[in-house]
Amino acid sequence: MTEARTVLVTGGNRGIGYAIAEEFLARGYRVAVTARSGSGPEGSLTVRADVTDAASVDAAFTEIEAAYGPVEVLVANAGITRDTLLMRMSEDDFDSVIDTNLGGSFRVVKRASKGMLKARYGRIVLISSVVGLYGGPGQVNYSSSKAGLVGMARSITRELGGRGITANVVAPGFIETDMTAELPEDTQKQYKASIPAGRFASPSEVAKVVAWIGGEDSGYISGAVIPVDGGLGMGH
Ligand code: NDP
Repeated sequence: MTEARTVLVTGGNRGIGYAIAEEFLARGYRVAVTARSGSGPEGSLTVRADVTDAASVDAAFTEIEAAYGPVEVLVANAGITRDTLLMRMSEDDFDSVIDTNLGGSFRVVKRASKGMLKARYGRIVLISSVVGLYGGPGQVNYSSSKAGLVGMARSITRELGGRGITANVVAPGFIETDMTAELPEDTQKQYKASIPAGRFASPSEVAKVVAWIGGEDSGYISGAVIPVDGGLGMGH
């Protein structure tokens, strides 16, 4: 890298997003994170944004561009779960998860693509999940939103692949964050038993893969789904 590139990680104040921001910082990038509360790791620029709101996303990009120039590497990481069985899932449970995980990724990708097209360079990384393609009981909303990201990355690849822009999906399995801490203990045990690696992963194990696929050396990989799941979802 001749000059440090600018990275944006959405939801960089905790969990996987925080670890991704730390990893890019350690590799010498200029790193901005969005957060609704709290802040990203030391050395990053934290901007307030809610990915369900296009105006808020636009304002965050404008702030980052003023400080660091256009976003060249975008990691759409912000996401939520609202798990419940299909029969009990409300319209709002469904819509809010789709609007945050899928709609939120659309909003940030769309806004970032402007600068990437101009620069004829871009790395888009969408954080999906093993359950996007594996499925998960109680996760009709979440798995639909995460499967949608695969179609999104592949359509972006077909639209923008000729302009130096790649779009890939990283599909983590079970990672030790607030999101999985919420799972009941016996569910965690059951999942551990079905993961060939026999354990959950740390956020930094995901972050290193994201930093690589979002880096300089991955320019001929696009539309791929990269699992980081200890072998749980084999067959993506
Ligand atoms: P956390 O629950 O720890 O963090 C979620 C992040 O998303 C927070 O920074 C949160 O911000 C942000 N966020 C949520 N909603 C919005 C919104 N509307 N606008 C802006 N930011 C928002 O999750 P993880 O770190 O575990 O997960 C990160 C990503 O990885 C998610 O997309 C998740 O689906 C995915 N994933 C996680 C796995 C796991 O095992 N943990 C496995 C597979 C995928 P705030 O702090 O303000 O709420």
